[in-house]
Amino acid sequence: MKKILCSMAFLLTTAAVSSAQQNYSDDHQINPHGERVLSKGMVAMDNSGIFVPYEFTRHAVGDNNILIEIMYSGICHSDIHHVHEDWKTESYPLVPGHEIAGWIVRIGKDVAKFKVGDYAGVGCLVNSCGSCEYCLADQEQYCETARVLTYGSPDVFHGGEMTQGGYSNNIVVSEDFAISIPEGADLTKVAPLLCAGITTYSPLMQIGVNAGDKVAIAGFGGLGHMAVQYAVALGAQVTVFDITEEKRQLALDMGASKYANVNDPQQMEGMKNYFNTIISTIPASYDVKMYVDMLAIDGSLAFVGLSANKDVPSIDIATLIFQGRRNLFCSQIGGIKETQEMLDYSVANGIYPMVEIIEPSRIEQAYKDVIDGKVHFRYVIDMSNLN
Ligand code: NDP
Ligand code: ZN
Repeated sequence: MKKILCSMAFLLTTAAVSSAQQNYSDDHQINPHGERVLSKGMVAMDNSGIFVPYEFTRHAVGDNNILIEIMYSGICHSDIHHVHEDWKTESYPLVPGHEIAGWIVRIGKDVAKFKVGDYAGVGCLVNSCGSCEYCLADQEQYCETARVLTYGSPDVFHGGEMTQGGYSNNIVVSEDFAISIPEGADLTKVAPLLCAGITTYSPLMQIGVNAGDKVAIAGFGGLGHMAVQYAVALGAQVTVFDITEEKRQLALDMGASKYANVNDPQQMEGMKNYFNTIISTIPASYDVKMYVDMLAIDGSLAFVGLSANKDVPSIDIATLIFQGRRNLFCSQIGGIKETQEMLDYSVANGIYPMVEIIEPSRIEQAYKDVIDGKVHFRYVIDMSNLN
């Protein structure tokens, strides 16, 4: 039944796309191949968290570029960190958004992977050098010479102009950095997979989680609820750690075998040296030692969540040595090849985020709700309603 509903939603979306496709062609006759692309979006002009409508241009559709009309754009907690300048001084105007799903309305002459009308997604990366050891190993996210992020990043391939993200009606990207959205995908839910999905899938694959492993997910939000679903799909026994009682049933419904509220000491008992794997998606300060103490020997703790600079959690070397042999590592999103693999796997197995679709005018309130823990589990902006 679920599959039938998804297919119906897909058919409806396809019908909507056909008429949108017509409008787009009409609108953009004034902007032929080779000229900069007109875009409109929602922009932050400073770190206040206020968004206003904004018109701007993007670089032209180059020979290996595609122009995507954006249908949906997810709100990641990283967007909030960026807009609030939690990590660095940002360059404004800033159009955030690195969880992008849409359809292709124009392609450059050398594009081989896509055709007009295909569905495509974009995550956190839009370019890299292509020749360093990381790029050659399909780990473009670690490219040290020319990594270009989807927004707020100088685009060295286009004169150093700052990139602008997916809270907008379109994006131009090299075909090498676009992800093909598989046929039959639920388009309303695909966008968050491009960041929340890959960021949790990648370390689980890196660790090599096996059926029966004891896996903990710390922070049950946008990233965390994807991590739970992947770990459950791999056959792991999954425990969720969060700071609220409210999400307990949702975690169990997603297949977790246990949910512990870290603020209740009783719920934290009996887990010393217990877990083979812990993925921390926590976006705030927290007690790292508490998690290290719960790792079994040779267990792995992957950090993907990151707080504002002012309260980054830490742990000292002595504590780690006294605890013994444990693997701690950090992970950033995933490479393009792995992102495609994740998306194919997620769609084939019906693994999607729980989303709430919102209008562009609700971004400000959505940011507040994410910070207050009120979102279940990802806000996705319907970009077709951009005015
Ligand atoms: P969300 O806000 O959606 O989820 C965070 C979750 O952590 C919420 O459920 C929150 O609870 C919970 N939480 C907060 N404090 C604690 C705590 N002390 N212990 C346990 N749980 C806690 O954020 P996202 O999932 O979108 O992002 C998570 C983090 O990952 C962010 O820091 C983001 O910047 C980072 N990130 C990193 C990437 C990478 O490549 N490494 C890529 C993408 C994101 P509540 O809802 O009740 O507040
Ligand atoms: Zn993100």
